[in-house]
Amino acid sequence: MNVLLPQLIETEAIDLLEQENCTIITASDPAPETVLPLIKDAHGLILRTGISITRELIAAASELLVISRTGGGLDNVDVDASTEKGIIVTSNLGVNTISVAEHVLSMMLALSKRLSIMDHSVRNSNFGIRYQNLPRDINGKTIGLLGFGRIGFKIGKICHQNFGMRVIVYDPYLTDEKKDKCNSWASMVELKELFSKSDFISIHVPLTDHTRYLVDEAELSLMKFDAILINASRGGVINETALIKALQNNKIAGAGLDVFSEEPVPADNPLLKLENVILTPHTAALTKECVIRMATEAARCVINVFAGCEPQNIANPKVLESGRWNHLRSNCQF
Ligand code: NAD
Repeated sequence: MNVLLPQLIETEAIDLLEQENCTIITASDPAPETVLPLIKDAHGLILRTGISITRELIAAASELLVISRTGGGLDNVDVDASTEKGIIVTSNLGVNTISVAEHVLSMMLALSKRLSIMDHSVRNSNFGIRYQNLPRDINGKTIGLLGFGRIGFKIGKICHQNFGMRVIVYDPYLTDEKKDKCNSWASMVELKELFSKSDFISIHVPLTDHTRYLVDEAELSLMKFDAILINASRGGVINETALIKALQNNKIAGAGLDVFSEEPVPADNPLLKLENVILTPHTAALTKECVIRMATEAARCVINVFAGCEPQNIANPKVLESGRWNHLRSNCQF
């Protein structure tokens, strides 16, 4: 079976695939025109974030059985087109939770403690900046979590337990069971209240037609002037132009951004000139440990599908009703 890698993945995952006698096809770059001729012979595809698997690419993928995302977001796969073609789409939810949570916390702390400006000042012989008392404590402050799935929940728990923070949440899709799990330390609020009451807002929703521009001028205008916004979900969830305006006019104190409306960030993006931001290149989940976890889990999903066994986290379970899948399942060796 052929497994296409539009972008390289960790050797641990490649070893796993090769042990199962898979043939690895690697693209020299993840551009659609490079990937198009290679996708024709692929039975499995392991997908990072550098390319969108569009309807056009899927149309050419006549042998493809499974698209396996190394991460959690599926905004770079046309899931409907995959379903129509009987291709299973899987994602890797949960594997990166702790890594993203640590990244968000480091942004919250770095912005509160003003680490960039302090570091810059010491290097430029401005030791006297210490008398300006610019850093802030996060202890006792309010964090508003927009989206309370795996990552949002983990961050809320750490902020409550370790930093004595008040946790407020906007997530209209939470089950009663999940609400019960946290009702002693997290309060459910409406979106407006989340924006007006929080000292930190951290976004953890998937990018969908419903969440695109969920954070726009109106929401930003509700924020406290000394509040900080963190986004490690997807750039499209925020209207970036409105955010830049709010930051330029000091309507909010700062932002920590791991994701952007356009990636890589173009050289003329005004965010690059702002001092009240910390920018990272979509690396929240890319710790040394996490990329191995994500790649091996994605490889395992592909191996499971080839063996006719249901992988975890199927985004389009409808495919499991198809004759194509039933044929595969009849070969299940486990
Ligand atoms: P998850 O599926 O566990 O949680 C998402 C939560 O968002 C769910 O509880 C859902 O109910 C909620 N939600 C959906 N629509 C909403 C809306 N309109 N308003 C409020 N809440 C809404 O996902 P997760 O593992 O917590 O990850 C969240 C997102 O973070 C992913 O979809 C992915 O795009 C992004 N992510 C980014 C990185 C990175 O490297 N920066 C890494 C992992 C995940």
